[in-house]
Amino acid sequence: MAEDTAQATPDVTILGAGIVGIATALSLTERGFKVAMIDRNPPAEGASYGNAGSLSPWSCVPQSMPGVWKSVPKWLIDPEGPVALRIGYAAKFLPWAVKFLQAGQEHRLPTIADAMLALTRPTVTLYRHHLEGTGSENLVRDSVYVHVYRNGDDADLSNLAWRMRAERQVPLEVVKGDALREVEPALSPEFEAAVLIKQQGRALDPGGIGKALAAKAERLGVQFLQRSVEKLTPRADGAWRIDTDVGPVDANKVVVAMGAWSAKLMADLGVTAPLEAERGYHLVFKNPGVSLNNAIMNVEQKFVISSMNAGVRCAGTAEFAGIDAAPDYRRARVFGRLAKRMFPDLNIDDFDEWMGPRPSTPDSVPYLGDVPGFANLFAAYGHGHTGMTMGPQTGEIIARLIAGEPPEVDMAPYRIDRFG
Ligand SMILES: Cc1cc2nc3c(=O)[nH]c(=O)nc-3n(C[C@H](O)[C@H](O)[C@H](O)COP(=O)(O)OP(=O)(O)OC[C@H]3O[C@@H](n4cnc5c(N)ncnc54)[C@H](O)[C@@H]3O)c2cc1C
Repeated sequence: MAEDTAQATPDVTILGAGIVGIATALSLTERGFKVAMIDRNPPAEGASYGNAGSLSPWSCVPQSMPGVWKSVPKWLIDPEGPVALRIGYAAKFLPWAVKFLQAGQEHRLPTIADAMLALTRPTVTLYRHHLEGTGSENLVRDSVYVHVYRNGDDADLSNLAWRMRAERQVPLEVVKGDALREVEPALSPEFEAAVLIKQQGRALDPGGIGKALAAKAERLGVQFLQRSVEKLTPRADGAWRIDTDVGPVDANKVVVAMGAWSAKLMADLGVTAPLEAERGYHLVFKNPGVSLNNAIMNVEQKFVISSMNAGVRCAGTAEFAGIDAAPDYRRARVFGRLAKRMFPDLNIDDFDEWMGPRPSTPDSVPYLGDVPGFANLFAAYGHGHTGMTMGPQTGEIIARLIAGEPPEVDMAPYRIDRFG
C-alpha cells in the first residue's frame, strides 16, 4: 500500500486494517471524511483472514449461555475438544473467565441477543453494497447455515439457544434423513438431522473480501500507513499523537480497531475493558474432491466447514494461551479426522493450516463508541466469533457517531466501561 506522510492530518485515523477497520474506513469515506489507516501488516491478515466466512444476519446467541460451565471440564480434557487452555496461562485467564460465566446468566441474555442482532442483521446487504465496483462481488454467496447433529433428537428447537432465535424471527427449519441429504448430498448418514438457519450469506474468501474492500477504500482516497502502533497519547488540544515503529503520527480523531491486539494499547491508557485472544484455527483442504452447498456447523464439535475458493475450509477451536504464544497446529489438524467423519469422500491429504485470534469480550458484544475520559477516541473492537459478520454494521455505527448522526441503535450494551 502507498505511504504518504506529506498529506494534511486526516479527519479520522483508524488503527487496525482488519474487516472492522476497513468497513469503518468505507463508511466514513462515504460521509466525506478524510481517513487514514495504520496497520503493521497489509490489510485483512489478522483474524479477518482465516475465519469460517459465515455471514450470519441472525447471530444473536452469545458464547456464554446458562450451564456452559458444565461442559467446560469435558471439553478441556478432550485433546480433540473445541476448547483448550494452556496451563501456564490459567491464572491470567481466570478474571476474564469469571466475567464470561457471569455474562451467561439467563436474565442478561435478551439485552445481549438484541445487541448482537443489531450488528449482524444488515451484514449481507452491506457487504454487497461495499463490494460494488470491486470486481469481487461474487465473493459473497447466499447460503443456509446448516447446524448438523449426529443424534436426530438433539435437533430440538425447544432448546434455549434455538428459542432465543425463534423469538427474534430467525427463519429456522428442522430437516432429517433424506431431506438433509438433499440439502448437503456429501454429508455422512451418521448425521441424522440438522437445523437450517435460512437467508444467510457465506464468504468464498474472507481475506479476499477484506483486501478488495481495502483496495476500494484506497481508490476512494483512504491513506494506508504500514506501521506498528506502539502508543497513543492524548494532546492538550483534544487531538492525538500516535507513536509508531517509524516515528509519531498526528491524528484528530482515532478509532481503535486492532482486534485482539487492542487490549494492550488501551490498557496503556488506563482502559482495562476485559478482552481475551480466543485463538482459532483453520485447515483448508486444497483438493477436497467434494463441494458443499452451504456453511455447515458441527454443533457437537463446534466448528464450521464451508467450500471456499481455495478449497474446503474447517474453522473453529477456542484456545486460550495468551496473544503472543506460538500456534499449536495440532489444534487445527484435529479437523482432518472430524471433517472426514462428516464427509467420507473428502480428500484431506493436502491442506493449509492457520491460527488467528478472535477478540473476545465476556458477553460476545463488542466495545463500540466513545471511550469515557478521552475526547476524539472511539472503540471498535471485541467482535469475538462474529466479527466478519458484524464488521460492516460496526463501520456504519462508528461513522454515524463521528458524523454526529443518530446511531440508530441503543449504544448502552456496547459501552467500553460496562464491566466496571
Ligand atoms: C477460526 C475463526 C473462525 C471465525 N469464523 C467466523 C465466522 O464464520 N463469521 C464471523 O462473523 N466471524 C468469524 N470469526 C471472527 C472474526 O474473524 C473476527 O471477529 C474478526 O475478523 C475481527 O476483526 P477485526 O478487524 O476486529 O480484527 P483483525 O482482523 O484481527 O484485525 C486487527 C488488525 O490490527 C492489526 N494490528 C494489531 N496490532 C497492531 C499494531 N500494534 N500496530 C498496527 N496494527 C496492528 C493487525 O495486523 C490486524 O490487521 C472467526 C474467527 C476465527 C479465529
